Amino acid sequence: MEYSLKVVGYDPKSNTLQVKLDEKLNVERLNTYYLGDLSNVQGNLTLSDPRSSTPKQKALYWALLNDIYEKFGNGSESTHERFKEKYFSKYGLKISTKNNAETSVEEMNNLIELVIDFMFEWGVPFKKGYELLPRDESYFYYLCLKHRKCCICGQHADVCHVDVVGSGRNRKSIDHGEFRFYAGCRTHHQEEHTIGTNNFLNKYKITPIKLNEDDRKKLRIGG
Ligand SMILES: [Zn+2]
Repeated sequence: MEYSLKVVGYDPKSNTLQVKLDEKLNVERLNTYYLGDLSNVQGNLTLSDPRSSTPKQKALYWALLNDIYEKFGNGSESTHERFKEKYFSKYGLKISTKNNAETSVEEMNNLIELVIDFMFEWGVPFKKGYELLPRDESYFYYLCLKHRKCCICGQHADVCHVDVVGSGRNRKSIDHGEFRFYAGCRTHHQEEHTIGTNNFLNKYKITPIKLNEDDRKKLRIGG
């Protein structure tokens, strides 16, 4: 049974939450489930992110679907349906991009990430969606590292790290947590060495990212 609700009170001492359901509780059905004993009713509670998704996110989403359409020729609507299904199987939740839908920023980002993952996996070039890509946001760089695609040109990439280890430090004890990473193809990595790291990062407006131990494990980086 699923209900929408409003939280009306919380007592931190007993960690007890009071909620008001938007519709009447179906006691009859609960009695059927619990054989008449309602002293031990259990369930999950999902509290939603009130910041609803932005028009910019939606524009990016549809632009990316259009890029996929250009590569495979499936209509954007049917592609949209596929991603909604993917989203459901990953998160167990339905998502809607309709204007009046209560989709949060976080949920919309999760949906966009599924699309970007798909595009990297299937080598779909970013065209319409390219300018809208959140290059200033670290998850774009994270995904480039994850898929080993150059964050500049999309070619096969290696993991590159910037921030030189200071002199006098023991090289054996390099802490990978101090590096910032980006994914760069051979050509672009070579260019970094030719023109210097700072010039290179400025030229392509790259923001390398720090990765914590969990991320590095997931991305199979370093040791
Ligand atoms: Zn490249």
